Amino acid sequence: MPEFLIDRFRNGLSPSARTTLRRLADRFFSGVGSINGARNPTDHVAITFDDGPDPEVTPRLLDMLKARECRATFFILSDKAAADPSVVRRMVAEGHEIALHSDRHDRLTTMPLRVVRERLIAARRRLEAIAGPIRFFRPPFGGQSFGTYFVARRLGLDVVTWGPHAEDWVEQPPADAAARALNTMRGGDILLLHDGMEMAAGELAPKLDRVRVTELVLDGMADRGLIPTTVGDLVSRGQPRMSPWFRY
Ligand SMILES: [Zn+2]
Repeated sequence: MPEFLIDRFRNGLSPSARTTLRRLADRFFSGVGSINGARNPTDHVAITFDDGPDPEVTPRLLDMLKARECRATFFILSDKAAADPSVVRRMVAEGHEIALHSDRHDRLTTMPLRVVRERLIAARRRLEAIAGPIRFFRPPFGGQSFGTYFVARRLGLDVVTWGPHAEDWVEQPPADAAARALNTMRGGDILLLHDGMEMAAGELAPKLDRVRVTELVLDGMADRGLIPTTVGDLVSRGQPRMSPWFRY
């Protein structure tokens, strides 16, 4: 059903009927849901970085996050982590959360599920050898089928998607990217940013200053009383917000 029809239907209901509907939807979708936030009223927002670690951006980003005492979740490509394990160990030592983004940035929905399973098992093992136990997984490009979803779930991984993003795969001034991220942000959300930036074949990654984007986002959040944190901390503060997410 299109989102606008759901909204129109929902807006016609009383607050208590809306809560009941929400609870039923949560129960129904929990079987096939991916985590895209926390449902409880919260002033926290999870900050997530994908596609790293990047040899140039990630150390500078970690310096800035440390200076601000801010913790985030890094969805890591295990091949890059294996090439530079020390930066991943630094993330762990500085209180960040390590999560899995696969081994390389390939679209899982185009592969046989047997291959997806083998690659996720190997990637997770490699990353856990550096960083300890992993709970969260985000598929590259957000590409997910029923098949890849259940492969991840069977491996005991919780799939995490996102809400607000900075569209930081497009070249733009950092202030514009930060404004985009802040535009729809509310407490309980999971923000998508990138420290690495893996593009589709043939596309060039933009050169915008990712550390500056993050600084401006954190400034804007502070102005609005929103507190940055990790995905694990966000969902531990209450009910994870689950919704079906299938994109090819
Ligand atoms: Zn990615």
